[in-house]
Parts: sequence; C-alpha cells; structure tokens
Amino acid sequence: MTLQGDNPRGTYRQGEDLPGETGRRRHRRSHRRQRTCVGCRDRAVRADLLRVVAEGGVLVPDPRKRLPGRGASVHPDSRCLELAIRRRAFSRALRLEALPDSSVLLRYVQGSEET
Ligand SMILES: [Zn+2]
Repeated sequence: MTLQGDNPRGTYRQGEDLPGETGRRRHRRSHRRQRTCVGCRDRAVRADLLRVVAEGGVLVPDPRKRLPGRGASVHPDSRCLELAIRRRAFSRALRLEALPDSSVLLRYVQGSEET
C-alpha cells in the first residue's frame, strides 16, 4: 500500500507511451487536411478553402472539388483572391504560362459573399 505513495513515478511510467502515440497520430492527420490559401498564405482546413482550376486560361471555381487537373486553394474571399491575382499565385500554383482570366472567379466569390 505504501509502495504507490513512495514511488509514484514507477506506476506512472507504464502509461506514458500511450498519450504520446495518439498525440503524434492526431498531429499527422490534421496536417494532411490543411491547405495553404494562395492569397493570404494562411493555412486552413480543406473545407474552408475554395478549389480553383484553370480551363483554357480561365480560372474556374470548383466548390465540389470534382474538376480534373491541378487545383489551387484560396479562401472564398475577394481580398484573398485579389492578393493571389496580384502575386500571380494562380499562375504558379496551376503552372500556367500566361496570366489567367480571373473575372469568372471574382464574380463567383463576390456573389457568394453577398448571400
Ligand atoms: Zn486567404
């Protein structure tokens, strides 16, 4: 009975491995779900970002994440969008040679902000 009180570390050490294991696993999973916004360069979970693809030099929103090809992630926010356009981040992320037409995407984001 006095053994536990005299030697608390000895009884605690057995359980130490478990919280470390789950902590590491949880961290890896959350990292995989995060994407960087090409506008503000903040990281966010995939569900909070809008996927954007380029179709024939035109940036197209892909809210259902179904369109094929390379995609870029951006917050559905016109400020992030303008930042990304100014930085040519879409050209870099989507490997485009020319500057893409962003008018469709801008209208889409501005429209979704109003509602
Ligand atoms: Zn952003």
